[in-house]
Amino acid sequence: MRVLVAGAGISGLAAARGLIGAGHQVVVLEQASQPRLQGGAITLWHNGTAILGDLGVDLEGTGQPLTTLCLRTARGRRVLEFDLAALAERFGSAARVVPRGSLITLLESGLPQGTVRFGAGDAELWADGDGVRVRTRAGQEYSGDVLVGADGVHSRVRTLVLGDGPAALTGVATWQGLTPAPFDPGSTTTMMLGRRGDFGYMGAGDGLMQWFFDVPWSPDAPPKDKPLEMLRRRFAGWGSPVERVLASLGEGDAEVFPHTRHKVPRRWGGGRCVLLGDAAHGMPPVMAQGTNQALEDVATLVDCLGAVPDPASVVGVYSARRRRQAALASAIATHSLAVSGPRTLLQGEYLVRMNGAIPPRLATRGFGALLRTLSDRI
Ligand SMILES: Cc1cc2nc3c(=O)[nH]c(=O)nc-3n(C[C@H](O)[C@H](O)[C@H](O)COP(=O)(O)OP(=O)(O)OC[C@H]3O[C@@H](n4cnc5c(N)ncnc54)[C@H](O)[C@@H]3O)c2cc1C
Repeated sequence: MRVLVAGAGISGLAAARGLIGAGHQVVVLEQASQPRLQGGAITLWHNGTAILGDLGVDLEGTGQPLTTLCLRTARGRRVLEFDLAALAERFGSAARVVPRGSLITLLESGLPQGTVRFGAGDAELWADGDGVRVRTRAGQEYSGDVLVGADGVHSRVRTLVLGDGPAALTGVATWQGLTPAPFDPGSTTTMMLGRRGDFGYMGAGDGLMQWFFDVPWSPDAPPKDKPLEMLRRRFAGWGSPVERVLASLGEGDAEVFPHTRHKVPRRWGGGRCVLLGDAAHGMPPVMAQGTNQALEDVATLVDCLGAVPDPASVVGVYSARRRRQAALASAIATHSLAVSGPRTLLQGEYLVRMNGAIPPRLATRGFGALLRTLSDRI
């Protein structure tokens, strides 16, 4: 099959790898003039790394494998630890923190030369019973049997095909950065939860640390030109290492990502156009599900395109297989304890501490069960 992919983010590039591996002819159309390597590091859970392994992506030496996920209160009291190393043994693949740019580079380097066409944002799209055609803003035309919309949370393909509105802001934003680590965080991801926000940090390999602060956000509030001052005020009095991490940063180190959530549609596309990744299910980064769900999409789409000979029937089969898991991941990312919504009593010191009553083995088992529910791969 001839497949056009709109977008050379993680979803589009992973889809290209999988589809080429399955014998399809693939062209990726990316609107940017070069690979978009910016952004922080991404947590790949055990399913995400397993799918990347299936796609032939060797993560060894990139980023930082994770052995522990630790939950603390705002004052720094340890509440719960999840044994990610035990889950790695069980699932046959380890969780890992990987800088977004490194993953993009790894994915792209495995594609045949010329697969990705940069400066190729789609201006017009036609789809009929015989195929799809895309005309880029530069006036070039491409045709194929199927179009994969992997063009992110502001997906133009989604708007053209589903005609629905933009993803909604949730009222929270993440201030984050990938900067030299002021101390060695080892192989543990730590999350601290409080009523003023959430703070998390983890090693990302090469002496780098990924850190983030989730705080309330309104598009009407004046832009924060000194975010570190705001974060220092907001997180004053929090336990170690909040102050230490903030002290290690300079203005310009913190980037903001307002959280958005897009309704997970019943049908992920229409006709010969299918949606994948953030285009299908933009969700807050809480619980780090966006990229992992995108990789699940890739594995399922490759499978569906191989199994369903009529490209026009793929949308129905593919959406039916993916919808439930993606909708659940999106709901968890929006409503979990580290919420992407208003702060409630649930984030108070005392109630967060009560999670410590859960025996660690049970907590790990529960987390493993959740990852399994959200994946077809593990
Ligand atoms: C520059 C950047 C930095 C990011 N940084 C972080 C981060 O630090 N932390 C985090 O959790 N998440 C980050 N994300 C989001 C994260 O990468 C995604 O949620 C996840 O990887 C799923 O990716 P995706 O490929 O579906 O969407 P995206 O990563 O958004 O990729 C979509 C791609 O499609 C391209 N595109 C858009 N419209 C068109 C069009 N009309 N035609 C052709 N191409 C188009 C975009 O340029 C982009 O390359 C970032 C995304 C980007 C683009």
